[in-house]
Amino acid sequence: MAVDAALPYDDQNIFARILRGEIPARKVHEDDWALAFHDINPQAPTHVLVIPKGAYVSWDDFSARASDAEIAGFVRAVGHVAREAGLVAPGYRLLANTGTDSHQEVPHLHVHIFAGRALGPMLAG
Ligand code: AMP
Repeated sequence: MAVDAALPYDDQNIFARILRGEIPARKVHEDDWALAFHDINPQAPTHVLVIPKGAYVSWDDFSARASDAEIAGFVRAVGHVAREAGLVAPGYRLLANTGTDSHQEVPHLHVHIFAGRALGPMLAG
Protein backbone atom coordinates (compact mmCIF):
# COMPACT_ATOMS: atom_id res chain seq x y z
CA MET A 1 0.00 0.00 0.00
CA ALA A 2 1.29 3.45 -0.86
CA VAL A 3 2.19 5.72 2.03
CA ASP A 4 1.62 9.40 2.68
CA ALA A 5 5.09 10.96 2.69
CA ALA A 6 3.82 13.83 4.87
CA LEU A 7 3.13 11.56 7.86
CA PRO A 8 5.52 11.50 10.83
CA TYR A 9 8.27 8.87 10.85
CA ASP A 10 7.11 5.40 11.96
CA ASP A 11 10.02 3.62 13.64
CA GLN A 12 8.32 0.24 13.12
CA ASN A 13 8.68 0.44 9.32
CA ILE A 14 10.52 -2.47 7.75
CA PHE A 15 13.66 -0.54 6.83
CA ALA A 16 13.96 0.85 10.37
CA ARG A 17 13.81 -2.75 11.56
CA ILE A 18 16.53 -3.75 9.06
CA LEU A 19 18.71 -0.86 10.34
CA ARG A 20 18.25 -2.12 13.92
CA GLY A 21 19.16 -5.66 12.85
CA GLU A 22 15.72 -7.01 13.80
CA ILE A 23 15.18 -8.56 10.39
CA PRO A 24 17.79 -9.74 7.89
CA ALA A 25 18.83 -8.11 4.63
CA ARG A 26 21.34 -9.05 1.94
CA LYS A 27 23.71 -6.16 2.62
CA VAL A 28 26.03 -4.86 -0.09
CA HIS A 29 27.44 -1.80 1.70
CA GLU A 30 27.31 -0.05 5.04
CA ASP A 31 29.00 3.11 6.31
CA ASP A 32 28.29 5.87 8.83
CA TRP A 33 25.53 7.37 6.69
CA ALA A 34 23.89 4.64 4.67
CA LEU A 35 23.02 0.97 4.33
CA ALA A 36 22.61 -0.74 0.94
CA PHE A 37 20.96 -4.12 0.41
CA HIS A 38 19.34 -6.15 -2.33
CA ASP A 39 15.64 -5.57 -2.94
CA ILE A 40 13.62 -8.60 -1.87
CA ASN A 41 11.53 -8.45 -5.09
CA PRO A 42 14.01 -7.38 -7.78
CA GLN A 43 12.68 -5.55 -10.83
CA ALA A 44 15.99 -5.76 -12.74
CA PRO A 45 19.02 -8.10 -12.68
CA THR A 46 20.60 -5.65 -10.25
CA HIS A 47 18.14 -3.99 -7.85
CA VAL A 48 19.73 -2.51 -4.75
CA LEU A 49 18.15 -0.18 -2.19
CA VAL A 50 20.20 2.48 -0.42
CA ILE A 51 18.78 3.99 2.76
CA PRO A 52 20.09 6.69 5.09
CA LYS A 53 20.85 5.69 8.67
CA GLY A 54 18.76 8.59 9.96
CA ALA A 55 14.98 8.52 10.42
CA TYR A 56 13.57 10.18 7.30
CA VAL A 57 10.23 9.30 5.73
CA SER A 58 11.03 10.30 2.18
CA TRP A 59 13.20 12.30 -0.17
CA ASP A 60 11.12 15.32 0.79
CA ASP A 61 11.74 14.83 4.51
CA PHE A 62 15.44 14.11 3.98
CA SER A 63 16.11 17.07 1.70
CA ALA A 64 14.32 19.40 4.13
CA ARG A 65 15.65 18.16 7.49
CA ALA A 66 18.88 16.20 7.07
CA SER A 67 22.19 17.84 7.87
CA ASP A 68 24.64 18.68 5.11
CA ALA A 69 26.87 15.86 6.37
CA GLU A 70 24.01 13.33 6.19
CA ILE A 71 23.07 14.45 2.68
CA ALA A 72 26.65 14.35 1.44
CA GLY A 73 27.27 10.98 3.07
CA PHE A 74 24.12 9.45 1.63
CA VAL A 75 24.64 10.77 -1.90
CA ARG A 76 28.23 9.57 -1.86
CA ALA A 77 27.12 6.15 -0.62
CA VAL A 78 24.69 5.77 -3.54
CA GLY A 79 27.47 6.62 -6.01
CA HIS A 80 29.91 4.32 -4.23
CA VAL A 81 27.53 1.34 -4.36
CA ALA A 82 26.94 1.81 -8.09
CA ARG A 83 30.66 2.21 -8.82
CA GLU A 84 31.65 -0.81 -6.72
CA ALA A 85 29.05 -2.90 -8.56
CA GLY A 86 30.59 -1.90 -11.91
CA LEU A 87 27.46 -0.12 -13.06
CA VAL A 88 28.90 3.15 -14.35
CA ALA A 89 29.97 1.95 -17.79
CA PRO A 90 26.83 -0.06 -18.63
CA GLY A 91 24.62 2.47 -16.88
CA TYR A 92 22.05 2.45 -14.12
CA ARG A 93 18.86 4.18 -12.99
CA LEU A 94 18.08 5.80 -9.65
CA LEU A 95 14.54 6.12 -8.31
CA ALA A 96 13.22 7.59 -5.06
CA ASN A 97 9.46 7.19 -4.84
CA THR A 98 7.92 9.90 -2.68
CA GLY A 99 4.33 9.70 -1.51
CA THR A 100 1.08 8.28 -2.78
CA ASP A 101 1.18 8.96 -6.53
CA SER A 102 4.69 7.49 -6.77
CA HIS A 103 3.51 4.35 -4.99
CA GLN A 104 6.07 4.65 -2.19
CA GLU A 105 5.45 1.58 -0.02
CA VAL A 106 8.03 1.87 2.76
CA PRO A 107 8.06 5.13 4.77
CA HIS A 108 11.84 5.34 5.19
CA LEU A 109 13.73 7.10 2.39
CA HIS A 110 15.22 4.63 -0.07
CA VAL A 111 16.89 5.11 -3.42
CA HIS A 112 16.48 2.21 -5.82
CA ILE A 113 19.45 1.36 -8.05
CA PHE A 114 18.34 -0.57 -11.14
CA ALA A 115 20.81 -2.04 -13.63
CA GLY A 116 21.88 -5.13 -15.51
CA ARG A 117 19.82 -4.75 -18.68
CA ALA A 118 18.54 -2.05 -21.01
CA LEU A 119 15.94 -0.44 -18.77
CA GLY A 120 13.69 1.02 -21.44
CA PRO A 121 11.54 4.14 -21.18
CA MET A 122 11.59 6.06 -17.93
CA LEU A 123 7.97 5.65 -16.80
CA ALA A 124 5.79 2.57 -16.80
CA GLY A 125 2.27 1.82 -15.75
P1 AMP B 1 8.88 1.66 -2.87
O1 AMP B 1 7.65 1.26 -3.62
O2 AMP B 1 9.71 2.67 -3.62
O3 AMP B 1 8.55 2.13 -1.46
O4 AMP B 1 9.79 0.39 -2.77
C1 AMP B 1 9.85 -0.45 -1.65
C2 AMP B 1 10.75 -1.60 -2.05
O5 AMP B 1 11.13 -2.28 -0.86
C3 AMP B 1 10.10 -2.64 -2.96
O6 AMP B 1 10.86 -2.73 -4.16
C4 AMP B 1 10.14 -3.92 -2.13
O7 AMP B 1 10.38 -5.07 -2.92
C5 AMP B 1 11.28 -3.64 -1.18
N1 AMP B 1 11.24 -4.37 0.08
C6 AMP B 1 10.20 -4.50 0.93
N2 AMP B 1 10.56 -5.22 2.01
C7 AMP B 1 11.87 -5.54 1.83
C8 AMP B 1 12.81 -6.27 2.60
N3 AMP B 1 12.48 -6.82 3.78
N4 AMP B 1 14.06 -6.40 2.13
C9 AMP B 1 14.40 -5.86 0.93
N5 AMP B 1 13.56 -5.15 0.17
C10 AMP B 1 12.30 -5.00 0.61
